[in-house]
Amino acid sequence: MKTPAAVLYGLNQPFVVEEVEVDPPGPHQVLVEMAAGGVCHSDWSVVTGTIAKEFPIILGHEGSARVLETGPGVTLVKAGDPVVLSVLPDCGACRYCANGRPNFCDGLLIYRGGTLADGSIRFHRNGQRVRHFNGVSSFSRYAVVPERAAVPIDPRVPLDKAALLGCAVSTGVGAVLFTAKVTPGSTMAVIGVGGVGLNAIQGGTLVSAGKIIAVDVHDHKLETAREFGATHVVNSRTTDPVQAMLDLTDGLGVDFVFECIGRPETVQQGFGALAKGGTAVAVGIAPKDALISIPPQQLVYGERRLIGSFYGSTRPRTDFALLVDLYLAGRLKLDQLVTREWKLSEINEAFRAMNAGEVARGIINQYE
Ligand SMILES: [Zn+2]
Ligand SMILES: [Zn+2]
Repeated sequence: MKTPAAVLYGLNQPFVVEEVEVDPPGPHQVLVEMAAGGVCHSDWSVVTGTIAKEFPIILGHEGSARVLETGPGVTLVKAGDPVVLSVLPDCGACRYCANGRPNFCDGLLIYRGGTLADGSIRFHRNGQRVRHFNGVSSFSRYAVVPERAAVPIDPRVPLDKAALLGCAVSTGVGAVLFTAKVTPGSTMAVIGVGGVGLNAIQGGTLVSAGKIIAVDVHDHKLETAREFGATHVVNSRTTDPVQAMLDLTDGLGVDFVFECIGRPETVQQGFGALAKGGTAVAVGIAPKDALISIPPQQLVYGERRLIGSFYGSTRPRTDFALLVDLYLAGRLKLDQLVTREWKLSEINEAFRAMNAGEVARGIINQYE
């Protein structure tokens, strides 16, 4: 069948919205109709080359959809199911999956070349193969995705907004709940309050953190951070963020800091603002060759920790439902996260606005 899709033909090129052919689903694959795709910095990292991919490719790794057709052997979903697409379609069988760490899944490696699990590519145009992005490709109206990537959710959640559960919410909330396991009453800071950072903040409110300090260079983002639960805000363009974090905690430093940008300098700032026994969590994805430098003495005296969080340590098949329950109970903000919606044809404008820091989170709404 034919589908409208935004195709990226090379580094630093604009997206080309055009008609692409999508093949029927193969074994353990499903054809889905997208509801929405989130506009995320990780997509832009492919445009700029920070995340290396082959071209042409259909990006969009944050997505929600309805299952239209199932391929042979599919048992986990059926036609009509509303689903959130997992960025990491785990194999379910490797050592890490068996240990409850599907974000480390060894079976994911084969997606790096832009294929599905069986090595196939289901998109093509004029005889040319067009690659998948993490088996999601939510910037296509229709897509074939791995069965295990399609996680059914409660139909009461607005399906277009649910797209954010697939990346921004799970990464940000997950970093706080599942990776760092922030304890009630502890102090925390979030550096960079875009889509992921705002979710780290609302993760802090979910676990009843004490002070929640938001750090960013945009005042309007800091205002949004307050709406999501930040108790204090710091504009690091006008204020030294490390000193500010120390001042706000009576000189002690923060117990947890989440770096949600992916820059060596801000990881170092976060580490520098830690209290004794504190944990700095790198959430943002830095360029491959970036290095950080921290004083090892600080690790020893005070037993500070520097750790990473990948996909919020999320286990999609259990944790998406947990996040949905929190949303339905009115405890997790989802609708307020989507500050702007675009049509697929407006995708280049959507990324311009994201890069300009104009939106908390934008989505490409496929219901035009
Ligand atoms: Zn993302
Ligand atoms: Zn696995």
